[in-house]
Amino acid sequence: MEASKLAMYFDKREDLKVHCYLCPHNCVINNGKLGACRARRNIEGHLYSINYGKITAIALDPIEKKPLYNFRSGSNILSVGTFGCNLKCSFCQNWTIAHEQPEAQDITPEALVLKAKELESNIGIAYTYNEPSIWYEFVYETAKLAKREGLSNVLVTNGFIGKKAMTNLLPYIDAMNIDVKAFNSAFYSDICKGTLDDVKATVELVYNHCHVEITTLVIPTLNDALRDISDMSMWISSLSPKIPLHISRYFPNYKMTHIPPTPRETLVKCREEALKHLEYVYLGNIL
Ligand code: SF4
Repeated sequence: MEASKLAMYFDKREDLKVHCYLCPHNCVINNGKLGACRARRNIEGHLYSINYGKITAIALDPIEKKPLYNFRSGSNILSVGTFGCNLKCSFCQNWTIAHEQPEAQDITPEALVLKAKELESNIGIAYTYNEPSIWYEFVYETAKLAKREGLSNVLVTNGFIGKKAMTNLLPYIDAMNIDVKAFNSAFYSDICKGTLDDVKATVELVYNHCHVEITTLVIPTLNDALRDISDMSMWISSLSPKIPLHISRYFPNYKMTHIPPTPRETLVKCREEALKHLEYVYLGNIL
């Protein structure tokens, strides 16, 4: 059965329609229908979060797996995810929970925080695996409680979220890894059905308020141009050259099966280019 938590960030429109402004898609949703993320449904002119309290994946992970290399390194963090996503990347590496309907277990914010507190050598909760911003109401309530209990909160996010929603969540978040999937607007619109400018705006909004690291999954021929890597690194550096960048290896997945895995040499060249502007550039997925 669908959860029925009244959503934040919507207003009513004519004919029982609703307008959701949680993320830059700004969906206008007809009665009975879902938003583009599949996580919010219009029921009789009200918007509900249908993934509230639904967990599809939970594990105690090393913080480096998020990846966060410069935040409380060597620690473990309870990592949780739900279902749905507001982007449609054809290469999605987590598509079974982002774009399918996986088995879910129910949990309350209170029970999750208690579990996080009881686990030995756990520093907090990471909202990860699928896109946490479209799990907003659950993440917001849980992060608030967790913070009160002295736990750290980590978001692993695509950064495609409205300014108001992110501003309100930010006081409870200690660290984020934000995907910048390419420094190329056409890549975002054609392959991810999103917009680079909105993701850049999120990075620019948050980097001064919590620890931030950035990840780019490098896909041969699509986003591996050294010019783009250079431009992205200069932009990150203009915020702070100390923001770590993770250059991650792509593997064929979901709807993108025709492009082979990224050659190691490509990743090394991208790293060399990024290091001209940034202090910390790491390679990921290379083992
Ligand atoms: S959060 Fe979901 S329903 Fe709301 S605007 Fe974004 S995609 Fe649409």
